[in-house]
Amino acid sequence: MAPHNQSNTIDFDAAKLQRLGYAGRSQKPLKPVSLPQLRQQLSLQLQTSLEAERILELFFREVQRLVPLDALSYQLASCDLRLDLGSRASHSAGYRLSHEGEYLGELTFRRNQRFSEDELGQLESLLASLLFPLRNALLYRAALQTALRDPLTDTGNRIAMQQTLKREIDLARRNLQPLSILMVDIDHFKQINDQHGHSTGDEALTAVASALKDSLRNVDMVFRYGGEEFVVLLSNTCREAASMVGERLRLAVLGIQHLVDNRALELSISLGCASLLPGEDMDSLLRRADSALYVSKRGGRNRLSMAG
Ligand code: GH3
Ligand code: MG
Ligand code: MG
Repeated sequence: MAPHNQSNTIDFDAAKLQRLGYAGRSQKPLKPVSLPQLRQQLSLQLQTSLEAERILELFFREVQRLVPLDALSYQLASCDLRLDLGSRASHSAGYRLSHEGEYLGELTFRRNQRFSEDELGQLESLLASLLFPLRNALLYRAALQTALRDPLTDTGNRIAMQQTLKREIDLARRNLQPLSILMVDIDHFKQINDQHGHSTGDEALTAVASALKDSLRNVDMVFRYGGEEFVVLLSNTCREAASMVGERLRLAVLGIQHLVDNRALELSISLGCASLLPGEDMDSLLRRADSALYVSKRGGRNRLSMAG
């Protein structure tokens, strides 16, 4: 859940924090407290969010009621998560976080003034309050990511496509930028299943998805729309540029060398391209791309058609 400013949505984390008396980063520094007090308060406050970034921000702020800091950085490569709070400083104390044997990332405290032994002891004690909420947040993050991906082809699924496309349409409209989509369908895919079996069909699907992703700058914009159909979302891309990208994708799939019984599978795709019209909604854009795809199929397949 990214922070948002729309007036019709409620940020539950913010609402909860407000009730607890924390109104955001613009607030004055909080009063100093003792270590036991802070530990107790931290364990309550860190439970108010399931968002790792938010939890770390809160932790950074609260810890400073006891130990002054200039910066905190955190990273967990396996989750593609990296956060740098505050400014860089000359002294650092780094910790490898784990909870019941499970690796939870690297966290570094930084300061221009050297840390005393006492302070390091306090920081370590406070870190213990971070582990459980952080682990929950990471689990939640992983669950969200799984819910939005297609496991076979490692592309976004239909839910992710709808969320992303809605967001990108709003952005395009606000920034007066073009937006195009490509509707992609594998040609005669049923024959591959029928002739070589379903698992070869699955391999072909994966190979096509990889070819699409490898030919695009932003691999996060490929979605599996249906069985053997994909949607490629091209933000800030006009009709002409989108047609060139589509052509590149078509050729990339033609070039796939996937061997079955020592013979290369013949793989091709048909595409329909549509660019967002002023005032157009997501369903209409998808419908126009689908109609263009249908024109490609009727015209003999292995080709791209532009929506009218
Ligand atoms: P066209 O060129 O007109 O698109 O023909 P087609 O055979 O590709 O299209 P059709 O819609 O007739 O068949 C699509 C097939 O895709 C049927 C379905 O069994 C198969 N399919 C859908 N999802 C999967 C999947 O996850 N794995 C495999 N192996 N096959 C799938
Ligand atoms: Mg199809
Ligand atoms: Mg097909």
